[in-house]
Amino acid sequence: MTDCIFCKIIAGEIPGDIVYRNDLVCAFRDINPVAPTHVLIVPTRHIADNNGWADDDGPTAAAIFTAVREIAEQEGIAENGYRLIANTGPHGRQEVPHLHVHLIGGQRMQHPMG
Ligand code: AMP
Repeated sequence: MTDCIFCKIIAGEIPGDIVYRNDLVCAFRDINPVAPTHVLIVPTRHIADNNGWADDDGPTAAAIFTAVREIAEQEGIAENGYRLIANTGPHGRQEVPHLHVHLIGGQRMQHPMG
């Protein structure tokens, strides 16, 4: 999608601190990190949000969680743990309309939700 900022990072049209990529997913550091590790894992195919999965996107969904596991190991946060967040739509306060999972770690989180 031509006007999508995450599609542009994936395509190399604008800079991104990419930490992981394969055919199905790409992951790059959040530009405004909230913790020592803050990585966004996104499908390389433009999917707007969690409502946009197609029936044949199962391998992509699996690839996102595989990427989470591998990046957590790369970042040295696998053992102590981390938080995953996928904001969806206005009530989820999703700001960038390209599906993404926040991988946040490197410190003990505040108690969650709300
Ligand atoms: P969300 O509110 O879940 O849509 O989160 C969007 C995230 O994208 C925010 O944490 C932003 O800091 C991050 N972000 C926005 N633009 C960029 C960018 N160019 N490179 C990396 N992260 C970005």
